[in-house]
Amino acid sequence: MDATKKRVAIVGAGASGLTACKHALAKGFRPVVFEAAGDGVGGVWRRTLASTRLQTPAFAYRFSDFPWPADVSGAEVFPRHDQVVEYLAAYARRHGVTECVRFGCKVLAAEYAGVPDEEAAAWERWSGNGEAFGDGSGEWLLTVQHPGSEATQIHRVDFLILCTGRFSGVAHTPTFPPNRGPEVFHGQVLHSMDYSNMGHAAADELIRGKRVAVVGSGKSAFDTVAECAAANGGRYPCAMICRSGRWMVNGGFVWGVSLGHLFCNRLAELTVHKPGEGLALALLAILLTPLRWLLSKLAETYFKMQIPMEKHGMVPEESFAGSMSGCRLGVLPDKFYDRVEEGSILIKRARSFSFCTDGLVLDDDDTGERVDADVVVLATGFRGDQKLTDMFVSATFKQQIVAAPLYRQCVHPRIPQMAVIGYTENLTSIYTFEMMAKWVAHLLAGAFRLPSVVRMEASAAEWDEHLAMRRHGEGGGGKPCLGGVSTWYNDEMCRDMGYEPRRKKGILAATLVSSEV
Ligand SMILES: Cc1cc2nc3c(=O)[nH]c(=O)nc-3n(C[C@H](O)[C@H](O)[C@H](O)COP(=O)(O)OP(=O)(O)OC[C@H]3O[C@@H](n4cnc5c(N)ncnc54)[C@H](O)[C@@H]3O)c2cc1C
Repeated sequence: MDATKKRVAIVGAGASGLTACKHALAKGFRPVVFEAAGDGVGGVWRRTLASTRLQTPAFAYRFSDFPWPADVSGAEVFPRHDQVVEYLAAYARRHGVTECVRFGCKVLAAEYAGVPDEEAAAWERWSGNGEAFGDGSGEWLLTVQHPGSEATQIHRVDFLILCTGRFSGVAHTPTFPPNRGPEVFHGQVLHSMDYSNMGHAAADELIRGKRVAVVGSGKSAFDTVAECAAANGGRYPCAMICRSGRWMVNGGFVWGVSLGHLFCNRLAELTVHKPGEGLALALLAILLTPLRWLLSKLAETYFKMQIPMEKHGMVPEESFAGSMSGCRLGVLPDKFYDRVEEGSILIKRARSFSFCTDGLVLDDDDTGERVDADVVVLATGFRGDQKLTDMFVSATFKQQIVAAPLYRQCVHPRIPQMAVIGYTENLTSIYTFEMMAKWVAHLLAGAFRLPSVVRMEASAAEWDEHLAMRRHGEGGGGKPCLGGVSTWYNDEMCRDMGYEPRRKKGILAATLVSSEV
């Protein structure tokens, strides 16, 4: 049977779903994209704070075959959220993706059918034979809720691609002992996700003229604090409660050299260990460790000179290189420390916090400092993993999808006929999503077969161990991120698809320029 007649479904029309669809179309498939939002493509960028911008410069946050419009692009330009939405929508229009999207359609559940559980569990190769559609007997049943209706319909597909995003949908909120949580607080508590979702006018109304406390130290926390400070000035200073400092920088250059050149190219990757590397590369990485340390220190010194983080107790504990590896580098909102100096922002470092009737208590439940507030915004992150587990009907798949890592960061060795795009991040995530989308499209088209389940598990575990070691070893934790090893990753993906990994012309460009620009 002609493989392109197979039914492919993609869940999500954010950056990763759009590129997944584009590359599936390029291979002759006619995918259906189910998108829960009714108002358009773009995912997380449609629901941001008014001030949110890209933290990656435009030239690095782009699809390889689709440049930004000339009036937006530029070496040091961080486009606004609405410009990102327009860029993604234009990409979708250009490649015929928009017509494939069914807006307002939420996928509530995915169930694998057609193959008995015991048979699938005994497979030695992914999907039975290492191919995208197996032998044709298995299929996914998607329960889809359609716009304006509580009723659901079942859609049958041969391959499922989950592109549901990590930074939306399910909020991560801290838990508290009894009588120390939001229930005792007389003001309003909300997660930064709800604050972003409420729309710009409503968000402004919520904070204007109020005492606001924001908990967190990530990008959402910084942006929310900056917005509150801009709205209320020194009359109602915004309190920022954070456990640790974070490398939030004011540009992508260190003494005129781009961070990409320093940390994200083939040369820089020689200074770090990589999964599956040989003895020579492992020894070289050990020898070059001092160089990486030196580059990290140079960047730290530069940004400490540029930004008064020392004065305000915000120097991060982790190294600069560590924050690059863990995708924890961010861009400071405009004039952030000016607002701190003028008293519109009060930074408070605290290991823990709880609620009292009038606000928050820091560090110690009884004797800790109190921060009075009318509104508390919890910028405490997301549960991207829960969105994945919630998708499956099978208890086994629910457990497997988060317990074991993804092969090539895309497919689970024991979950057949399904791929995930956009779960593993990168500092310039859009390029990584595109590489994943190409790889999945090649798999769909039968350009390569996957190895045995055991080999896939071993490779995925090696990558996972490596990414976890770099995250924790360099001071971080949490989500999978390819920061600092993405050239190595891209090379592997290219080899699978049968392409030459060295994609740049000339040895200098291949060594010094990031593979992602
Ligand atoms: C404030 C902020 C700033 C960021 N800045 C950068 C940056 O500078 N550089 C960078 O590389 N990355 C950045 N990111 C990361 C950003 O998330 C990615 O760049 C990218 O936009 C993620 O795209 P995605 O398609 O994977 O996910 P999303 O954009 O979250 O899209 C997922 C889509 O899936 C839909 N969906 C989810 N569940 C279902 C379901 N069950 N049924 C149907 N549809 C569903 C959602 O409605 C959504 O449209 C930032 C993220 C945030 C939140």
